[in-house]
This record gives sequence, structure tokens and C-alpha cells, in this order.
Amino acid sequence: MPKTPTSELRATTWLDRAAGPVMHGVWLAVCAVTALSLAPLTAQAWALVLAAGAPGLIGLFVSAAKADTRDLARLVLALAWCLPGLAASVMFASARAPAALVFLAGPMALAASGSHRAARLSAVVSACAFILAAGFSLLGPDPLAAIPGGALAGLVALAAFFVISGLATRARLSARLAAARRELDAIRPAADGFTHAPSPLLALDPDGVITAASRALRRVAPGVPRDLAGLPVDGLGFDEDQQGALRDGLNSARAGGGADGGRFTFTVRGPRGRESALTARAVATPAGYVLSLAEAAGVDAEAERRLIAERDAAIAASRAKSEFLAAVSHELRTPLNAIIGFSDVMKQRLFGPLPARYAEYGDLIHESGRHLLELIGDVLDMSRIEADRYELSLDAFDVRDIADICTKMMRLRATEQGVTLYVDAGDAPIPVNADRKALRQILLNLLSNAVKFTPGGGAVVLMACAEGRDLVMAVGDSGVGISEDEIARLGQPYAQSQSGRDSTERSSGLGLVLVRQLAELHGGSMTIESQAGEGTTVTGRLPVLSAPVGETGNVAPLEVHQRIRAAQTAGEHIARTGEGAA
Ligand code: ADP
Repeated sequence: MPKTPTSELRATTWLDRAAGPVMHGVWLAVCAVTALSLAPLTAQAWALVLAAGAPGLIGLFVSAAKADTRDLARLVLALAWCLPGLAASVMFASARAPAALVFLAGPMALAASGSHRAARLSAVVSACAFILAAGFSLLGPDPLAAIPGGALAGLVALAAFFVISGLATRARLSARLAAARRELDAIRPAADGFTHAPSPLLALDPDGVITAASRALRRVAPGVPRDLAGLPVDGLGFDEDQQGALRDGLNSARAGGGADGGRFTFTVRGPRGRESALTARAVATPAGYVLSLAEAAGVDAEAERRLIAERDAAIAASRAKSEFLAAVSHELRTPLNAIIGFSDVMKQRLFGPLPARYAEYGDLIHESGRHLLELIGDVLDMSRIEADRYELSLDAFDVRDIADICTKMMRLRATEQGVTLYVDAGDAPIPVNADRKALRQILLNLLSNAVKFTPGGGAVVLMACAEGRDLVMAVGDSGVGISEDEIARLGQPYAQSQSGRDSTERSSGLGLVLVRQLAELHGGSMTIESQAGEGTTVTGRLPVLSAPVGETGNVAPLEVHQRIRAAQTAGEHIARTGEGAA
């Protein structure tokens, strides 16, 4: 940015400050010269010279006027500056030349002083005074004949006054012009930078009227007019809703941007008159706003609407499916219970012995019935959760009771498989307020998976403890483990890993999903840590403790893997000494 030469700056400042008093002083000198050239003066002539000089004196006082009295000062000066013209009209008994020239003195003196509003006011008032004086002097003598010889010096002084005021006005104007040029030079790089910015930008004034647009705007919004300056920005919106979105976006930016940091989306008229969505980021500046625009993720508004409609239809269909499954599962359970019950009667030979083959069939019917019932139970619970119809029934109890029941239920299977099953739930009660059935299902699902996927000689540890307000339950095993990419898929219903698909046992791919859903219904979460060939730990964290951790006295951190190693060692010891599972 070029630096202002100090001499030029000094001259401009001096002109601003001194032009008013100087011009009024010069006017007083003009009046004095005129009075001297006409001497000796009559009393009437004295009065007229004094009247003509009055604006000079008043101007000297008024140029020091404070901002709050400036309007009044301007009016007083404009009125005072009629007096020289009127005095000259009376002195020469005519409002025609040279008296007419004196009427110009006021506007010129004020323009040279830099007071443009006062100059305009004075021009109007002096013009009225001239018309008035001219009207009165129409019947007067020939103006040129009436000029007294001595008045010529006054006329020369008047001409000198006009020259001085003209020069002063010119000096002031050129100083302003230079300042404006400097300002323009200073802002030109910024303006050029804005116009050629690689991203689409809009500059707006505080009323939302576009003041500048970068050329890149046409890339994202080819349908908007070429020359946007002067148009209200909300006019870019595709329809009234979109115009409202733009206005809301600007208001939010003015209020600080809110949670979106001044970001909003709106649509404009795109190619072939179709809606095209843009995202905007508005920033409020002292001069208005700057809007940075971008295409909205390549999705046009129509496609977005279609996608939303399809998503809603898919959600509705999924919910209908879940409701159907819930209803069907429920209906299936009634006959299935009869099948299991009657086959159990056959299995136990309650009504006498059966032929060997029938007995075997009866056992198979009973076994398959139970398998099917468990599967249906999972599907029913899953469907209920998906259809938002699973209701928790909260109860106050000690988690260790549930852990105890679940390990008892799994122990036989674990022993049959040669897996050591450990429970570590501390010595102090872990009081919770939760759905007892859901917690039992979480533990049973985790334990049955752990036992299912742990080969003989391995170990499974069930841990429960309190951490802050959370109940943490973890089931770790030293089994086959799950690979990393498979862990990600296991969150989906009916998804199984390779080992799951290879397993011959009951499996629906719902067990872990149910655990996660039941944990989430309690406001908690489920995490899986696993390493193929090493083992798996599934942890459920539920904020259901009815007393804070200090009161449970159970603050041991969960180090499931360490415990698994301990359990394995214990398992090996048991295998060596021939004792049963602990
Ligand atoms: P499933 O009824 O098939 O067991 P789950 O949702 O309980 O359904 O488990 C999904 C899959 O996750 C299983 O098929 C299995 O591949 C894998 N999985 C779950 N738990 C374990 C575990 N403890 N060790 C190894 N793999 C596991």
C-alpha cells in the first residue's frame, strides 16, 4: 500500500482546519477594501458595508461550532451570506451586475471551507434573496451607470475573493480525490482477490444485499444471474421456503452462528430450471456478511427428497416385518410348548415303555423342539426391540444372584466340553435397578457363545463389578477368537463369523445383537475385544447401579485377559489333578 506523503497529509489537514476561517477572513478584507475605496462613507454606506461584512465575522465564530450546534450554525451562516448580496443591491440600487456577483460569494466561500451542505443551503437562500432583490430593483436606474468610480477597487477585491475561493475549493477537491485514489489502490488487491477467489463467495451488506460475488460462484450455481451486485441475496432461493432458509441462515450468522457455525443449506435454480442444493457458511462482518458456498454433497434436492421417501418407506417396511415376526414367533411358541411338553412325557416314559425307535424319535422331537424354542425366543425378542415393543421391567436386585444362576445353567455344558468356568463378582453385593430377565439373557448369551467357541481345555471367566454408576459385566474366553473385520459385521442382526457358520450348535446370529440392544435399552453399551486364535472378551457396561461404587466396595478394574490366564492355569491344574470344574 503506497504511503501518504507527510507534506500532502499536512496540507490536507491544514486545509480542513483553516479553510473556513481563512475564507471568512478574506471576505472581511474584501469588505474593508471596498469601504476604503468608497470613502468617505455616509452613515447609510457604513451600515451597508457592515452588513456585507457580517457573514465574515459570523463565519469566524461559527467555524469553531461544536457538532451538536452545527446544523444551527449552518443555517445562520447561509442566512448571513445573503446580506452581502442584499447590501450590494441596495448600494448600487440594483440587483443586477455587479450586485448579482456578490450573491455568489456565500456559496463559494462555504464550498471552499469544505462545508458542502452549508454551501448548498447558502446557494438556495442566496438565490431566493437575489430573486427578491431583483424584483425590487426592476424599476431602478441602469446598473452600470449607477456604479460609483471608487467601487471598482471593491470589484477587483471581489474578483480576487472568487479566485481564492476557487483555488481553495480545487485544493480541497484534489486532496479528497488523492485520498480516494489511495483508498481504492489499497482495497483493489483485496477486491481482485475476492473476485478471483477459487471458492464461490458472496459479499453482502448488513441488509443482505449482494455487493460482490466471486467468479467461482457460476461453477456451483450456473443458473443465477451474471450481475448479482445490488440484488437481495434471498432472491437466489428457489422458492419462498428456500428464501426463508437464506434469511434464517443470515440471522443465525448474525447471532453468532449457533451450533452449526453459520452453516445452512438452501436450493437455487440450477440447470434446466431444476432445484440444485448448495451449502453455505455465513460469517457476519462489520460491513455485512460473507457467504462461502459449495455444492451440497452432489445430491440435488429432488434426489434427496426421493432418498428420504425411500428411507422412510424402508423403515416402515422393516417395522412391519418386525411386527409380523413378533406376532408369528408368539403364535409359534404355543404349539411348540405343547410339542416339547408331550415329547418330554414320552422322553420320561411316563405312560410306560416305548419301542426303541419311537423312544429315539421322541428324544429327537424334544431336543429339536427346545432348539426351535430358543431360536424363536431370540427372534421374538429381537423383533420386539426393533418394533419398539420391548418393555423393560425394572427391579432392584444383586447382580451376583443372576451371575450365579447363569453359571449354574452353563456349568454342565462347560464341563461336558472340558471348559473351565470361573465367576468373579467380588464379595460385596452389586445392587442394581434393571430388568432381571434382560440381564440374565445378556449373561446367558455371552456365556453360551464363550463356551461354544472355546475348545476343550480352555477357560471362560464371567466378571461383574461396579465402576462409578456403571455395572460392568464381561465374559472372556480363551477360544477361537474373531478376526478384526468380522467384529465389525457382528453388530448386524443374523451376522455370523466363520467359526459361527462352522459351528454345529444352535445359532441364529442374534445373540450378540440382542446383548447390545438390551444393554442399549438400559442406556448402556457393548464392546467386543478379540484376537483370532487367542480368545474373546465381550463387555457390557450399563448405568444401572442403585448405589455408587464406594458403597459396593468393588472397585477392582476389569482385567479379563489376566483372569483368563489365571483361569487357564487353574484349568490346567484341575486337568492334572483330576478335580471337577470350579
Ligand atoms: P450365534 O447365535 O450365531 O452365536 P451371536 O450373535 O451370539 O449369534 O454370535 C454371532 C457370531 O459371533 C457367532 O456366530 C460367532 O461367529 C461370533 N462369536 C460370538 N461370540 C464369540 C466368541 N466368544 N468367540 C468367538 N466367536 C464368537
